[in-house]
Amino acid sequence: MSTESPSLKEILLQSTAQELGTEALETVAEPKIVRSAIHAVEDLPSAPVCITQDSTPQNLANHHAIMIGRGSSIPRWTPGSVIRWSAWRMGYESQEDADFAALHLSIAANVWNEAEVGVRFEFVPLAKDANFVVCHGGHKGDILASAYFPNKKDLNFVYVYTRGLELDWKNSLWSVFVHELGHVLGLRHEFAMDPRRLERHKAVQFGEANPLSVMNYRREPPKLQPSDIAATRAFYQMPAGTMLESTPVVDFVPQ
Ligand SMILES: [Zn+2]
Repeated sequence: MSTESPSLKEILLQSTAQELGTEALETVAEPKIVRSAIHAVEDLPSAPVCITQDSTPQNLANHHAIMIGRGSSIPRWTPGSVIRWSAWRMGYESQEDADFAALHLSIAANVWNEAEVGVRFEFVPLAKDANFVVCHGGHKGDILASAYFPNKKDLNFVYVYTRGLELDWKNSLWSVFVHELGHVLGLRHEFAMDPRRLERHKAVQFGEANPLSVMNYRREPPKLQPSDIAATRAFYQMPAGTMLESTPVVDFVPQ
């Protein structure tokens, strides 16, 4: 007989189903990557903007607040981890948009998987089995998408906002997601410690600076650079507890 108490994820999903009905939690079927979906876009309307702050999945709007916290560590997944993800279908303007976002997330996950940095992404059909769900986060002005950093929570979100699905951005969404999945792997913005645009939480530079980094904001769609791959691999090869600028690397097992 099991005496395990339900996880936070199970509580959230069960109470959502009770309040909003199970259709609020319907997921998208596994996307099939087709080459024609991978558009190469030369010029973007502006440099992409992303945030790592609270949003609410639009299919759960008026339900639960989502908490995000970070401490004074360098969070990472335990090397060799598989980060499982799912995609909600409600909350978008159309079913087509939900499928589109899931397909583009799948393309981005594949880009990182092919880079073999030490952690893999894997699609799962249900949110209860996922570490994160890609979903619509509503309207946030010019912000396209957002993500999270490695942590011990058993359910996290990668959001796409209204702007990210508008025509001038839409075909580049997969490359925006490559950037977002960089955050999921623990990468901060290339400019996080630039005194002109200092971010709220201290960041540590690891490897060589590269303004072309997928983690920078540029007019070109974010593109994974050889230096991003090399630095992320090296990051995941360090022993847990390694101190970088007197900040410890802390490993999390994706829940
Ligand atoms: Zn970002």
